[in-house]
Amino acid sequence: MPSSIISHRANNVQPSPTLAMDAKAKKMQAAGGDIINLGVGEPDFDTPSHIKDAAIQALHNGKTKYTPVQGIIELRQAISDKFARENQLNYRPEQVIVSNGAKQSFFNLVQAVINAFDEVIIPCPYWVSYPDIVRLAEGTPVFIEAGAKQHFKITPTQLELAITPKTKMIVLNSPSNPSGMVYSKEELTELAEVLLCHPNILIASDDMYEHILWTHYPFCNIVNVCPELQDRTVVINGLSKAYAMTGWRIGYAAGAQAIVDAMIKIQSQSTSNPNSVAQYAGVEALNGDQRCITEMVKIFKTRHDRVYNALQKMPRVTCLPSQGTFYSFPDISRALPYIDGGLSDDVQLADYLLTKAGVAVVPGTAFGSPGCIRLSFATSNEKLDDAMDRLAIVFGAA
Ligand code: GLU
Repeated sequence: MPSSIISHRANNVQPSPTLAMDAKAKKMQAAGGDIINLGVGEPDFDTPSHIKDAAIQALHNGKTKYTPVQGIIELRQAISDKFARENQLNYRPEQVIVSNGAKQSFFNLVQAVINAFDEVIIPCPYWVSYPDIVRLAEGTPVFIEAGAKQHFKITPTQLELAITPKTKMIVLNSPSNPSGMVYSKEELTELAEVLLCHPNILIASDDMYEHILWTHYPFCNIVNVCPELQDRTVVINGLSKAYAMTGWRIGYAAGAQAIVDAMIKIQSQSTSNPNSVAQYAGVEALNGDQRCITEMVKIFKTRHDRVYNALQKMPRVTCLPSQGTFYSFPDISRALPYIDGGLSDDVQLADYLLTKAGVAVVPGTAFGSPGCIRLSFATSNEKLDDAMDRLAIVFGAA
């Protein structure tokens, strides 16, 4: 078939690298390969049983039909209550839209507000899908490099310099996938001060890892530090990470009514409502017992320490301790020339680790930060120890 059959739009984007690596690792596992998958960011815990029970109950109650595109009122009310209870933010249920995962929430937002050639500022490292979702809307991603020296966080000066008359939106993600870094209240305030001078710029605040953090200060986003920005910020979050509900695909967004209404319109022409049964499970996740989160986070923290300590011992590998998420993002650039006669980059290293050491990781290049790799420690201690031993052999020889 001639390549011209495929649209420029589709040719312009790559498949999600995190999902591609996960698929590759799973295929090798299915073929009998001894692979430890530190690739995809997905809690290994089962969804808590009270949440599963709510889904079973919904099935028995016949909740198997279309729901409003925007999501059932019970779930939007639970989300509105969650914002008030946990984030001290007021959003009416009408200002909330539930989607098939936070990825679709971000997709809807971009489709709703970005025109061709609009610029979207994306700090590097970034979650793999932001730039391509912007490209799908014919927008232009504008990257701000934030290396390990600045703890993978952008500065107000960098932000000011990246803004042009075409800037339409900035994406903030804290705790960050993949760096595991968290913006402090003070840092967010400084960024907010820049944005206050540019009243036409929207803000996408991706709070997906809100609960998975162990800083000595509580979670906050840019609206918490600067309520004046609430009208032009869309807060995105979801149930996947905090409640181990990746497969259920429930994400949500809240913001100004006009933006949310446009997002609903977009969703009505793509997927319609998110899965009805999953929405009822979502009500229980948000309104039910929250102890499951604390328990999971405690375990993530011990796993983090295990991985971090093991990485510290590997020659020429440097890594900052993560403040949240279930990712470590070590810089391996200095080790590359010493591995197996010399590897050229992080992409080659990820391939080498998968095929030679049986460890799946995602190369930093996928997140806009070449020279690093992302390890997801959302797996058992035994597997993590085994994976770290394998990495130690690769890097130890370096
Ligand atoms: N967000 C997770 C990750 O970064 C899941 C896969 C994806 O959608 O990217 O691995």
